[in-house]
Amino acid sequence: MHEHDEGTAMAPANDERSTKKLRCIQRSVDRHWVGNGFPVRTLFAYPNLGPVLSPFLLLDYAGPAEFAPTTERRGVGEHPHRGFETVTIVYAGEVEHRDSSGGGGKIGPGDVQWMTAARGVVHEEFHGRDFARRGGRFEMVQLWVNLPARDKMAPPRYQSISSSEIPTVRLGGGRQEARVIAGELAGAKGPAKTFTPIHVWDLRLASDERTDLAVPDGYTTALVVLRGAVRVNGAEAIQAAEVGLFDRTGETICVDSAKDATALLLAGVPIEEPIVGHGPFVMNTTQEIRQAIADYQSGKMGHLAGASAKPLVLGVAATPTTTR
Ligand code: MN
Repeated sequence: MHEHDEGTAMAPANDERSTKKLRCIQRSVDRHWVGNGFPVRTLFAYPNLGPVLSPFLLLDYAGPAEFAPTTERRGVGEHPHRGFETVTIVYAGEVEHRDSSGGGGKIGPGDVQWMTAARGVVHEEFHGRDFARRGGRFEMVQLWVNLPARDKMAPPRYQSISSSEIPTVRLGGGRQEARVIAGELAGAKGPAKTFTPIHVWDLRLASDERTDLAVPDGYTTALVVLRGAVRVNGAEAIQAAEVGLFDRTGETICVDSAKDATALLLAGVPIEEPIVGHGPFVMNTTQEIRQAIADYQSGKMGHLAGASAKPLVLGVAATPTTTR
């Protein structure tokens, strides 16, 4: 592995790419419940890291947790979103979803749901009924992906992506692999349709093997470690539930797993626009947030037939979070 020699004016040789430097490791102490189904750690969020992580806004890691069998519904009832996409990746258990644009379904281990809220949906997210009755281990990630201003009021879209549609690429010595959910890796194209160029790779890393991952120069790049520990560029290991943030400059990162690990590589072209968010809405201005609240309250984002949820209480007077 060639380390790019800082300070030299020479370009790397053709067969050697410059390394993206690890900028910092984000450690989260936050733990909270989303509804009664999702014991979540927020591994990153836009109020602190919006411009650094753009186009990614937030990542909630639910579980791993054991749930006892129940006939109750566990999860979050009807609530809105506007201005971005929610991407749900299930590792264990089942998630059932229904939204006001007609999207819905159940996803299980390895499956992904890529929901474009854009101009607005209301939806509900629960554990799958069969899983709830059986009980067992539950583990999932929900990633929020921002939309550029021009697409924030696009029609909603729902992509249910089954595990079998996601190509797997063998890495390094062959004991490591990447599932390409979005973007491209080694010629394999991910099935997810995205509004801006994004890579989402679900990595299974083996101890004592190293792999160079090519990530385009200029892309925001983050490595989210869910289980195990991952050394990058020969430096400090990123532990479980930590996120390594890389410089945008450079074309490769070298991952070298200290133990068997599961991690998500997130990369994308940054959206250089203001981020103003309030609860389930992420827009560009405070006025657009007020409009989102008004549109939700007047029913313009729709409703779910038979939804049993209590309505979200969103005060117009509440101060939105603004970054940059
Ligand atoms: Mn939601």
